[in-house]
Amino acid sequence: MKVKKLPIYEFKCEKCKIVFEVLQKFSDPDPLCGCGSEVKKMISLNSFRLKGDGWFKDGYSRRKENG
Ligand SMILES: [Zn+2]
Repeated sequence: MKVKKLPIYEFKCEKCKIVFEVLQKFSDPDPLCGCGSEVKKMISLNSFRLKGDGWFKDGYSRRKENG
């Protein structure tokens, strides 16, 4: 099986006021925040930034929105 690099999408949880990045395919459903709330997909110039070998350990990371 070939490993494809996936685009990174940014999602914002209005409840937690956080933005987190998820590696997913176009066809994947939007994820839920850890709090269980639905999240809003953000349009960002970084959306299709690819991380060479720097995969997040579990394909998922969090950061503060103002970070
Ligand atoms: Zn949340």
